[in-house]
Amino acid sequence: MTKALQPKTRVNTENMVDTGKYSFCMGCPAEGCKSCVEGAKVVLFVTGLCPRRCFYCPVSEHKFGTDDVYADEWKLSKDPAQADQELLEECRLIEAKGAGITGGDPLATLAKTTHYIQYEILR
Ligand code: SF4
Repeated sequence: MTKALQPKTRVNTENMVDTGKYSFCMGCPAEGCKSCVEGAKVVLFVTGLCPRRCFYCPVSEHKFGTDDVYADEWKLSKDPAQADQELLEECRLIEAKGAGITGGDPLATLAKTTHYIQYEILR
């Protein structure tokens, strides 16, 4: 078995956040990095639309080119009001402290992206 196929060892993130030793380059990680390590950050995939076609694109085939929104792996409703409620529910479930916006290209759907930036995710 190659090293790449071996199961990952579960990391003690609590200790990593306490010591700040999970960042090789920085001794004092950003708040967003801490939330990510703790599993308390929503990955908000605002769109799969993107005008580019990078050969290394990590976006999955079923997401790329669609204008769907995902909160982590939860595909949100097309109805904006319903989608906002689903996003809040995902935030509640993971006890989110923040969110990272990604895509696709979030600038390809600027109005939707700015809606989520302005939205009070953590009420
Ligand atoms: S989503 Fe990012 S990596 Fe993928 S094609 Fe667009 S710019 Fe490139």
